Amino acid sequence: MKAATKYIHAGATPDPSTGAIMTPIFQTSTYVQEAPAVNKGFEYARSQNPTRKALEEALAIIENGKFGLSFSSGVAATDAVIKLLQPGDEVICGNDMYGGTYRLFSKVFEKFGIKFNYVNTTAIDNIKKAVTDKTKLIWIETPTNPLMNVTDIEAAASIAKSKNILLAVDNTFASPALQNPLDLGADIVMHSVTKYLGGHSDVIQGALVMKDAELREKLYFIQKSCGAVPGPMDCFLVLRGIKTLGVRMKAHCENGKIIANWLRNHPKVGKVYWPGFEDHPNHAIAKKQMRDFGGMLSFELRNDSVDEAKRVLSSTHLFSLAESLGGVESLINHPASMTHASIPREERIKNGLSDSLIRLSVGIEDADDLIGDLKYAIG
Ligand SMILES: *Cc1c(COP(=O)(O)O)cnc(C)c1O
Repeated sequence: MKAATKYIHAGATPDPSTGAIMTPIFQTSTYVQEAPAVNKGFEYARSQNPTRKALEEALAIIENGKFGLSFSSGVAATDAVIKLLQPGDEVICGNDMYGGTYRLFSKVFEKFGIKFNYVNTTAIDNIKKAVTDKTKLIWIETPTNPLMNVTDIEAAASIAKSKNILLAVDNTFASPALQNPLDLGADIVMHSVTKYLGGHSDVIQGALVMKDAELREKLYFIQKSCGAVPGPMDCFLVLRGIKTLGVRMKAHCENGKIIANWLRNHPKVGKVYWPGFEDHPNHAIAKKQMRDFGGMLSFELRNDSVDEAKRVLSSTHLFSLAESLGGVESLINHPASMTHASIPREERIKNGLSDSLIRLSVGIEDADDLIGDLKYAIG
């Protein structure tokens, strides 16, 4: 089945009791049993819910995996992966990633004795050099939030396989429409479903997808034991969001390309971070592992003034100043004070995330209107 068809039909089977074409919202906490421990496969809604089950099946299909697990947020999905580890274990992860992931690793899990080695994973040798006999997990985000760095998933997977280490990929920015890490050898794909999968800025949710049944059992055990499960209404909204993933991503990519090129030619704009540019340092890898380059991009103003950047951030009308991304509407964000404020400034600057960086989540409005808005704001 081709992707566009999968997005519409994955996980969608008419409801057996009524024939409803859309999976109903099973708003229930428990299920009546015929006799003690005799049930229809549903016991208690933290462990199983039919709306969630339909979504988890859809997630598995659209990421070319075998199993999907839904969580109450993206960070809850990440949290479940780290809970596979023991004190003393080591993780190799990127030095440029979503601020909340960094916060979870450094402020929550480090105190339980898990060690995180932050390296620039775009240079595969850095991953290789960081491997020790305690390394149990490689965590990569590609493209990264917000600098749009791209890591070679296949190369990372070959290191992981050769050393018996798990490879997890945060695929939030690309979405399954543009990149499928399991096809490239990753063991686990993580999504902040809040973003492109939901697609309409109306739900917080996370997901993990994998192929291995044993790994699925371990992660399902963590999901039900720790309890960070999404409600059925949210699962319904995401099932609906996934149906239009193909057409939405096409429009995000078209607009992203137009705006990246327009910004690059603007006299007041300095560096534009977008992996579709032929001179982007990781363009060749992006081209190899992604079907298109997405609607996320960042840029700096030529004068590198924080005040000027703040003025631009407050002057747009169609681009709303907000955290998050991946919805149909365009958003503008200041990583240093918003999404990435949890990363210490020194760390941030060292990794190339300047105080004046502006991030755009390009929506699917008319591109001319979006350019008009940026033109007015940048001046
Ligand atoms: C938003 C985001 C997360 C966290 O997801 P939540 O749904 O906000 O918990 C993780 N990774 C990336 C790349 C994100 O953009």
